[in-house]
Amino acid sequence: MFFKKHNIETKTSAEINKMRIAGRVVGEVLEKLVQIIKPGISTKDIDKFSEKYIKSKNMLPGFLGVEGTTYPFPATACVSINDEVVHGIPSASRILRAGDIVSVDIGVIYDGYYGDAAKTYPVGNVSDTASNLLKITEMALYESIKFALSGNRLGDISNAIQRTAENAGYSVVRDFVGHGIGRELHEDPPIPNFGQAGTGVKLVSGMVLAIEPMINIGGYKVEMLDNDWTIVTKDGSLSAHFEHTVAITENGNEILTKV
Ligand code: MG
Repeated sequence: MFFKKHNIETKTSAEINKMRIAGRVVGEVLEKLVQIIKPGISTKDIDKFSEKYIKSKNMLPGFLGVEGTTYPFPATACVSINDEVVHGIPSASRILRAGDIVSVDIGVIYDGYYGDAAKTYPVGNVSDTASNLLKITEMALYESIKFALSGNRLGDISNAIQRTAENAGYSVVRDFVGHGIGRELHEDPPIPNFGQAGTGVKLVSGMVLAIEPMINIGGYKVEMLDNDWTIVTKDGSLSAHFEHTVAITENGNEILTKV
């Protein structure tokens, strides 16, 4: 991950308003994909649908062209199946099958400001094991958002994710983290999905955070495929990913990517 800004920028309400507009379109795409994602479609179909929807709102895809280790990300959506954790590259030859789980991560830019969210979907009927992983990962996201409050510490968010995942017997990915977001996709602070409550940066009103638990059924270790983008679990176990962009406000927080 690349943090171009080395300090945490709080956003004005005018800036948060732009991020709310971007975030809403991210949320709408993820909501509409529930109807699209079925056995037999390709990961490229998911990308095409997302691109078309974002363009129909006169906005820009936020991930297209993001710098990587060797070449920029080539698509609108990151689409990651089963043991793929994040950064799956859409392809016409990757076909979803019943029983798969598929994570879709989307970024949108409106007037120079980003929204970023992700969701993992069941494809047709999935096993109880897979279904429980999705449930717990989404729960970890919402549990952690409860701690995204002015006066709390960043570690309160991280710890809520880790606690929820590990109490269910799962592990949290260590090598990839959530992040601040605004005029850049990845801003400070990095937000690990593990950590100690009561530690780390103090949260203040105006911070906007992309909180994104990545949770594996097996071990926490991951590796990168030869395409220099896609991250998979080292032990081949299933992985899920849920994310929202969240603004910390005077008296609570607001999920900017929720529909
Ligand atoms: Mg993100």
